[in-house]
Amino acid sequence: MTRATSAPPPVTALKGVGPALAARLEALGLSTVVDLLLHAPLRYEDRTHVSLIGTLRPGETAQVEGEILAVESRNGRRLQYRAVLGDGSGRLTLWFFNPPRGLAERLKRGQRLRAYGTVKGGLAGLDMAHPEITPLPAPLDTALTPIYPTTQGLMQGTLRRLIREALGLWARQSELLPDLLPARVREALGLPDLRTALEDLHRPTQAAATPLATPGGARLVFEELLAQQLAMRRWRAQAEQWRAEPLGIGGALAEQLMAGLPFRLTGAQQRVLGEIRADLARDRPMRRLVQGDVGSGKTIVAALAACAALEAGRQVALMAPTELLAEQHARNLAQWFAPLGIPVAFLAGSQKGAARRQALADVASGTARVVTGTHALFQAGVAFARLGLIIIDEQHRFGVHQRLALSEKGRQGALHPHQLVMTATPIPRTLAMTAYADLDVSVLDELPPGRTPVHTAAVPDTRREEVMERLGRACRAGRQAYWVCPLIEASEKLEAKAAEEAHLALTEALPDLRIGLVHGRMKPREKEAVMQAFKAGQLDILVATTVIEVGVDVPNASLMIIDNAERLGLAQLHQLRGRVGRGAVESSCVLLFSPPLSQVAKERLAVMRETNDGFRIAEKDLELRGPGEFLGTQQTGLARLRFADLARDAELIPQVRELADTLLREHPEAVEPLIERWVGAGIGYAKV
Ligand code: ADP
Ligand code: MG
Repeated sequence: MTRATSAPPPVTALKGVGPALAARLEALGLSTVVDLLLHAPLRYEDRTHVSLIGTLRPGETAQVEGEILAVESRNGRRLQYRAVLGDGSGRLTLWFFNPPRGLAERLKRGQRLRAYGTVKGGLAGLDMAHPEITPLPAPLDTALTPIYPTTQGLMQGTLRRLIREALGLWARQSELLPDLLPARVREALGLPDLRTALEDLHRPTQAAATPLATPGGARLVFEELLAQQLAMRRWRAQAEQWRAEPLGIGGALAEQLMAGLPFRLTGAQQRVLGEIRADLARDRPMRRLVQGDVGSGKTIVAALAACAALEAGRQVALMAPTELLAEQHARNLAQWFAPLGIPVAFLAGSQKGAARRQALADVASGTARVVTGTHALFQAGVAFARLGLIIIDEQHRFGVHQRLALSEKGRQGALHPHQLVMTATPIPRTLAMTAYADLDVSVLDELPPGRTPVHTAAVPDTRREEVMERLGRACRAGRQAYWVCPLIEASEKLEAKAAEEAHLALTEALPDLRIGLVHGRMKPREKEAVMQAFKAGQLDILVATTVIEVGVDVPNASLMIIDNAERLGLAQLHQLRGRVGRGAVESSCVLLFSPPLSQVAKERLAVMRETNDGFRIAEKDLELRGPGEFLGTQQTGLARLRFADLARDAELIPQVRELADTLLREHPEAVEPLIERWVGAGIGYAKV
């Protein structure tokens, strides 16, 4: 099968689409005629019949026809238009606030109109705010009316017209969007062909609950999931071709390291380490995801895995999502490795001047054997002498293409480095099967002994003073506490300001206690100094922004207060709370919230009170947020899903996987075009 040689025509190929309209469409991600064809409606409205005004009830969504009996425009704070529509059975007031240009011409006395909207009971009878209007005469719709996702300044009517034209163009030039599912495969699944599917989607004649519940919608969901699955298989196959240096288990070094530890590995840690070592012994690069709840002890597993590379004379890179965490890792690893004669280096974006030059030189010469850092580790200008293992901590949000790109960057000659990804976010199975199909998964399903679940309470911030008082008492009794100040906006500046204010308030309220402050706007060295003071017990309370969300490990801290907890998602709350409950003392977490709570926020706080189980929390999170947000936009490593929804369509996945097998075996020619249509080409090596 040959690829489509020409790119699909741009939207400007359609009648009436100039640069301004094209820009609006672009904002929706619609740049070609094919994009328009694949733009799925959100829902349908039934405008196939007209109601009499006299029969309308408040709350009802209806379509009426009549004559404009009176018009009034007012110029108050905003421009208002009011038109009274009558059809002989009754009268209805139509309201328009700041109406679009051109509306005034249509709202003339005596003009006949069709109006569609939601009826409300006003003081002076029934009205409709912002109805969609059509000047009469005009034919009545015979199919349901699709309502599309749209954007500022782009009217439903315009989108509908363009999609209708795109369907027309496609009818004349079917090569624009060929049906890629072999007929036999499609028929076996009872799915319609592509033309039927898209016509059904954009102009359904039968009542359908939701667009994707139509047979056409189902076909598109299926095709998209299939393409995803095929893309994952392809990437996996590609990576299977790679070679890596087989590593021993690094046993001698690992034993020395273990000998210095104050604890023994849990059964789960031993098992996972065994799985990693088996991977490392192969001549293919390891690509393993270790999933373990917060506090399950992933760092030591990573360090023991590193021994294998180190003993073979290779370097190890450990990448963390924040500088604070990267620094902590540098410190922990140095504590473990320095006594064994293995230098640990730290590399971060904020590093400048001589320190940076020295770090870069050590990495390039191979003097630095273990290198921790942020993604700055893999930026231009960083060259490893002989990288054998890349460890990515708490970065499950990386997509498949980023994982592959990292592997490419660390490549030396024909050899790729091994890769270990660690995450505390449990990934529900169906998601893992698609989003992480390129990784093998190990689960650390056991916490080190002696951990006690964190007792969690949600408290309205009207009781803030009481919380502070109790905090004071607990600290005077020798406990250490975090006070976390999150903000919704991802603004480090605002977040830092909130933390500074909280720090001030606490210092005033509890003058006898030692209170520290750490936030993202501080220099790495300052941050680390504060963290060390807290860890050493020289501070009672650490006021922090969400910089402490991941990885921070101070076992003696047993209290956490999260301010504005209603603003945080479940994953973040769980991560934050995971900073306490690490020692033997019973720990508590107070979720301070400002009422009133939204329904979702209520459910989130309730889940946090009920359970400490990361897996249950993740499932609830998925339920509340949906997989798009759960994984973030780039997290699947794939283009955004247009039709499918990994949570809603989970039960299709096994069938999709089976179909992917069939296709690869019996219709290999269909595979590339499907991937290209839904996932896009070239994404496999997107930038990190
Ligand atoms: P996470 O999985 O969240 O990254 P860490 O690696 O930070 O967890 O480990 C949390 C704490 O548990 C650390 O203080 C670590 O030293 C300790 N720890 C790890 N493994 C064990 C074990 N087997 N027994 C006791 N403590 C352990
Ligand atoms: Mg960790």
